[in-house]
Order: sequence, then structure tokens, then C-alpha cells
Amino acid sequence: MFLAALVWLATTAYSLACAIPIKGRLVQGGLLTGRVVSGTPVSVMGKPVRVSTEGLFLLAFGRDATQPVELKAGSVSCMLQPQKRVYKISRIDGLPPRKVSPRAPEDLARIRAENAAIRDVRRVDSPATDFAGGFRWPLTGRLSGVFGAQRILNGKPRRYHNGVDIAAPIGTPILAPAPGRVVLVHEDMFFAGKTVILDHGHGLTSVYIHMSAITVKERQRVETGGMIGRVGMTGRASGPHLHWGVTLFGTHVDPQLLAGPMPTK
Ligand SMILES: [Zn+2]
Repeated sequence: MFLAALVWLATTAYSLACAIPIKGRLVQGGLLTGRVVSGTPVSVMGKPVRVSTEGLFLLAFGRDATQPVELKAGSVSCMLQPQKRVYKISRIDGLPPRKVSPRAPEDLARIRAENAAIRDVRRVDSPATDFAGGFRWPLTGRLSGVFGAQRILNGKPRRYHNGVDIAAPIGTPILAPAPGRVVLVHEDMFFAGKTVILDHGHGLTSVYIHMSAITVKERQRVETGGMIGRVGMTGRASGPHLHWGVTLFGTHVDPQLLAGPMPTK
């Protein structure tokens, strides 16, 4: 157990002012993995979080997190202060007006139902630890959109960009960046088009949208590098790309912090 913890710690380059071993970036949009002795209760801001049988747990800082977060493991506690980031402003023009300011009752009802379906799968706290081995890029390509950017669509301010965009030709295979279970397949979401969500355990899910084809089914298990679909531009997209998002329950984190630099083919 002690040796396993040492090996685990050796894979991180961070020394944090916290006696609880955690790895990841203490930054807005950062995901942290911690490890405690199996059975130790862990809480974040007083709320208990799932600890795996190996002692692993997760916590995340949101895009706009500014306040220190209290992490407690057994009798040890730390205040974790996320570093601030400066976000880009991204302007996208030429989108169909209906996809920027939907007004038709049937569009609004559809959006509500789709958002509820996504919220439901993001609420699940499964015991899997498929996040433990880290994440790769689901494909290689030019980063055409970064996490956190304030978006101005057809001149109108909209919600911040909660994932990364990777531009690639239509049909490019999308590969699972980590093992997981397919928890949502949707062939035609209003904004997202063809959509897949993978569950990696402990409330951590990843989403793949705008695809031209989906090659997995709900409840299917996928391994790292397994194909889940192909790049497209379904839903609200101005060109072929994959939008990849990673979320811990309701908190969006920056996939780029998990996958590291984009490999050059
Ligand atoms: Zn996007």
C-alpha cells in the first residue's frame, strides 16, 4: 500500500502545501486526484466525496472559482486556493440564428429535455476508477477553441466555452481518451448534434459532440483508444470539429489540463 502510494506520487510534479497527497493543477478549471489510506473519509467544503477502495478521490475547480476550497481527509485538512486564469474572447459568426437565439416553443422544449438528460447522467456517482490512468487526446488536430472562452455568437454574448474544440476533417475517428462506460448516446441534439457521454467514475464524465457518426451503444464499455465515433459538424457548429468536454458532476474542467500538449502526429 505504502509503495503503491509512492509510485503514484512519483507520477506527479507538484509539491503542494497540503499533507493530503493530491495531483493535478491548482488552477481554475483544474481537476485534482487525491489518494488517502483506504477507508479514510474525505470531504470537500464539508461535503463527503466518494473514496475508492484504493483510496482515490476527485475534486475540481470551476472556471470562475476564486475562493479557497477546504479539503479534509480524516483529521487532516487543507485550504486549496485555485490560481486565476485569463480567458479568451471568442467570436463566431455565421451561425444559423435559430441555433443562437432559439425561440420556437418546440425548439425550447427540445433543449430543456436534452439538457435534463445530460444533467441526469452527470449526477451519477459510480464506483469505477477509470480516471486513474489519466487522459489522452481523443484525436490530433488544431485546437480551434479553448476552455473558458467568453463566446460571442453572431454578435450576442453567450455562455462560456466549457470544453475544447479540435478541428479535423469530417470522418476522422474519435478515440476514447480513457476507459469508461457509454452512458448517453443521442443522434440529434439541438446544440450538440450527435452526442456521446462516457462515465469514468466518481462523477467524472466526458462528452463528445457534433459527430458525423456514433460507433458505440449505451452501456457499452470502452477502453483507451477505442473508437466512439467520427468528427462531424452536426448541431450548432460552423465547421467540422470535435467539441470535447470533461465534467465532475456539474463542474466543467479544462480537458487540455488533463491531456497535456497536443501530440504532433
Ligand atoms: Zn466547443
